[in-house]
Amino acid sequence: MPILRVALDVPVARLFEYRADDASSEDIGRRVVVPFAKKVAVGVIAGMVDAASVPAERLKPVLRVLRGEPGFTAADLKLIVFAADYYHYPLGAAIMAALPTSLRRLRTHRSQPTGGQLTLTEAGALGLQQLPVRASRQRRLLQALEQGPLDHQAFRALAPQATGMLKQFIARGWVETGPPADAGAQPAPEIRTAPPLTAEQAQATAEICAALGAFRPVLLLGITGSGKSEVYLHAIAAAVAAGRQALLLVPEIALTPQLEGLIRDRFARVPAVSLHSGLGAGERLANWRAAQSGRARIVLGTRLAVFTPLPELGLIIVDEEHDASFKQAEGFRYSARDLAVVRAQQCNLPVVLGSATPALESYFNAASGRYRLLALNHRIGAAPPRIACIDTRGARLEDGLSAPLLEAIAERTARGEQSLVFINRRGYAPVLICHACGWVSGCHRCSAQLVLHLKERRLRCHHCGYQGQVPMACPACGSQQLAPLGQGTQRVEAALAERFPQARIMRIDRDSVRQRQAWPEMRRRIRERDVDVLVGTQLLAKGHDFPHLNLVAVLNADSMLYSTDFRASERLFALLAQVAGRAGRGKEQGTVLIQTEFPHHPLYRSLQRQDYRAFADNLLVERRQAGFPPFV
Ligand code: ADP
Ligand code: ZN
Ligand code: ZN
Repeated sequence: MPILRVALDVPVARLFEYRADDASSEDIGRRVVVPFAKKVAVGVIAGMVDAASVPAERLKPVLRVLRGEPGFTAADLKLIVFAADYYHYPLGAAIMAALPTSLRRLRTHRSQPTGGQLTLTEAGALGLQQLPVRASRQRRLLQALEQGPLDHQAFRALAPQATGMLKQFIARGWVETGPPADAGAQPAPEIRTAPPLTAEQAQATAEICAALGAFRPVLLLGITGSGKSEVYLHAIAAAVAAGRQALLLVPEIALTPQLEGLIRDRFARVPAVSLHSGLGAGERLANWRAAQSGRARIVLGTRLAVFTPLPELGLIIVDEEHDASFKQAEGFRYSARDLAVVRAQQCNLPVVLGSATPALESYFNAASGRYRLLALNHRIGAAPPRIACIDTRGARLEDGLSAPLLEAIAERTARGEQSLVFINRRGYAPVLICHACGWVSGCHRCSAQLVLHLKERRLRCHHCGYQGQVPMACPACGSQQLAPLGQGTQRVEAALAERFPQARIMRIDRDSVRQRQAWPEMRRRIRERDVDVLVGTQLLAKGHDFPHLNLVAVLNADSMLYSTDFRASERLFALLAQVAGRAGRGKEQGTVLIQTEFPHHPLYRSLQRQDYRAFADNLLVERRQAGFPPFV
């Protein structure tokens, strides 16, 4: 009699055994309903054994194996088993983590009208003809569907009431949700508005395409603006044309709307879905199912999407592969980038890691020949930005701003160009200090320091989230000589507002972009030149194209050189290269000014020459000497 080993979503680090008289090895990977602690739970069959670890008569039988839906395949499980083992996480918990939340519980969404394509039924076409004239909104929605199937997002965009009306339509049987009739056919990828590739891009694309069907890790090292996305798109097109699915992993969907838009536009007729935490449970499940069934040919997702079942996977791309958000840092800890490489190896397919500033580990793998290194060394369009250091040793700074930097901003503002002042610290000042006794505002809950947020009149810990009031007098000595020390975005914003009363200044950090909706509107204002000076944190560094931004000024970069984290300089280089890449995305050459007390530091010098490889080679020597990763 087969004994099932079942993964359950419970905080116990083991699999659970159940009897199942009718089960076969076909059922491994399927969901199963079992009795658990006087309740009923849903789990996943992780494996099957002949003998139980307890007397067989003490085993409970499973209630039902859910055979009406696809389960994890052996290949899917293989990746999860590897991850659980490699990252020392209980297998059961790892399997459940790879499952969409709505599948971990019993009452699942019964084909909720979310994912898939919406089509007008014949009844709907009839209904449309009989609608009263007043029903103009319904008419408009149905007419849109009459032109052809739409995905939910497109449908919802038609009218604010679209979601509510869709429910009515489905209830009446006028609209069906699911794959369109011709979903089985392989739609030919259609490259719309694709520019001709540069020689470098063509070479990289050709090498990746030639590797389809075999394990081949590729590091695509391309400076910002060198057109890496175009290489991805062509490689995806080739994979889709070959009848395979493509998985594109990105750090954060919210921050990479351009790539998502590009895919929707380029592959208008290829079913593509995205998978990230911004989706509702129903939509996420529908998209996951579309990927699992093979219906979706392109999957764009964040780190967790690395586990998505993709029966015909042919290509994996990891964009901005150095990005820290590919690491899951709590619970089931893993690096999605590294798992992408493992998955590619397990499934025999090429994996492309793209970045302007790869993780040192990836670069080392490429330099030592384990990965193929493909380089894009030329920026498309404008010349790369001019990067210069402003030596602040002995200089008089006003609120942290040097005279040459203020002049440069004044110049740009006068010309109607935009400037970005980058400071990687939100709030007003990083710490409050007492000039009488030296007391500093430390956090009561952790060992970090409390950041002064002047607008809200709060002291906040950016590490643990503690909040407190700003004291009127020093808690240690009672003196009133409390003063903010150092700069944060709020202070820089205030200082610039005082210096440039006519300039329109916008602050962009996690405090000002609290609500999700705020950001698209802010982006629009920047693009439409409604803003002269941006003050922002690294939130602004990633993948945004601001055509009128020509000056990037960096404050306080040195603080990261003092960090005790051995990866700090690697991160600083990546961050600065990314921020610098924001300058001069339009036609003009951009300028980047970095205030520093170490203008001759090798990091800044490599950055000025845009020479990641020189920087990385140097750092590798240091790491080897110090006995740090990737050498240990
Ligand atoms: P990266 O991701 O490497 O920083 P992008 O992929 O964003 O660079 O490309 C930078 C810009 O160059 C984009 O505006 C893109 O549309 C444009 N571009 C890319 N490839 C080409 C090409 N072959 N011809 C013309 N423009 C291109
Ligand atoms: Zn004091
Ligand atoms: Zn704290």
